[in-house]
Amino acid sequence: MKIHEYQAKELFRQAGVPVPRGVLAVTPDEAAAAYAELGGELAVVKAQIHAGGRGKGGGVKLVRSADEAREAAAAMIGAPLITPQTGPEGQVVKRVLVEAGTDIAHEYYAGITVDRACGRPTLMVSTEGGMDIEKVAAETPEKILTEALDPEIGLRSYQARRLAYSLGLPGGSIRAAAGVMQAMGRLFLATDASLMEINPLVLDNAGEIIALDAKMNFDDNALFRHPEIVELRDRDEEDAREAEAEEAGLNYIALDGSIGCMVNGAGLAMGTMDTIQLAGGKPANFLDVGGGATAEQVTAAFKIILSDPHVEAILVNIFGGIMKCDVIAEGILAAAKEVDISVPLVVRLEGTNVERGRDLLEGSGIDIITASDLADAAAKAVEAAGAEA
Ligand code: GDP
Ligand code: MN
Repeated sequence: MKIHEYQAKELFRQAGVPVPRGVLAVTPDEAAAAYAELGGELAVVKAQIHAGGRGKGGGVKLVRSADEAREAAAAMIGAPLITPQTGPEGQVVKRVLVEAGTDIAHEYYAGITVDRACGRPTLMVSTEGGMDIEKVAAETPEKILTEALDPEIGLRSYQARRLAYSLGLPGGSIRAAAGVMQAMGRLFLATDASLMEINPLVLDNAGEIIALDAKMNFDDNALFRHPEIVELRDRDEEDAREAEAEEAGLNYIALDGSIGCMVNGAGLAMGTMDTIQLAGGKPANFLDVGGGATAEQVTAAFKIILSDPHVEAILVNIFGGIMKCDVIAEGILAAAKEVDISVPLVVRLEGTNVERGRDLLEGSGIDIITASDLADAAAKAVEAAGAEA
């Protein structure tokens, strides 16, 4: 689960990570009032959407008067903001954060994510902060310094000091920077976060260390023990299909290809997506209907897949183990009665009761392309999608 910058900054503030003073505004007039309330010369109006890269898309504006704040907010609120992370449709801005401006001496990067290689959350810092940390990671990875967190203890003070020194900070700012890093570690562990990013972490002209941006994602599987985090959820920022799937008890992740996938089992779903790619196509989604899917769930799954306008064909790949093939076939037939399956449907069934499942599908009169194995199914789905597009 993701949260907004202003929400992450509130968590930062409580955890002892310095952030600029800020006021949330939902109208241009509120933004103008917020500018006056902050009382400084320079302020920043920042669009609040879950995607990053807002600076590049015009979602971060420096302003020097209440009128400028109002204008900047008026341009952002209600309009879609397109950034390198939103996709071409962008994300509609509903509120802006108006913050006291910071005099930047240098922009650093600080982030924590789970390093799967060492199996621990790892703090990463770099002198190359600002907007393009992905480029730094790809081209000059030696400029990113890391320390792994002990999950019981967090970031130890010697680790924090080592990172702060290696950033080449002025002597008077090292203690503060190390403190920020340890606070980040504590907050990350305490909230079961999966990602935390401060880009940029700023040294200002007074030698203060300030988190100018804030991003936090949380482990969905741990949300049950963080009701205070769940309250921060903004459903408008989430993919509507993903939310619907969650309600139906399905594991669905939207992707940008043209072949809708319905598979039982996460591993088989991954294998199916790989095989589609191998056959020259692109999956429109990841979907694991689980081991014990009901006819209702299969119907819900078809509805979700078909509501994606990019889908040109559907590939159903079911291995009947716990789940029997005839039950799945019945689910497909029930779904076909309820929803109009408007694109070619390729079905590959294998496993328990496969003969009965195939007989049911063949005798149903529904237009189904049957496949003998996964490679065959993927090839047929790619061909059908190509013919449709
Ligand atoms: P992002 O583009 O979504 O990552 O948004 P950020 O919050 O990181 O802002 C983008 C850039 O705007 C930062 O890297 C800064 O260079 C600039 N910026 C943001 N706030 C301030 C500020 O208070 N003062 C100045 N001078 N620049 C700022
Ligand atoms: Mn940023």
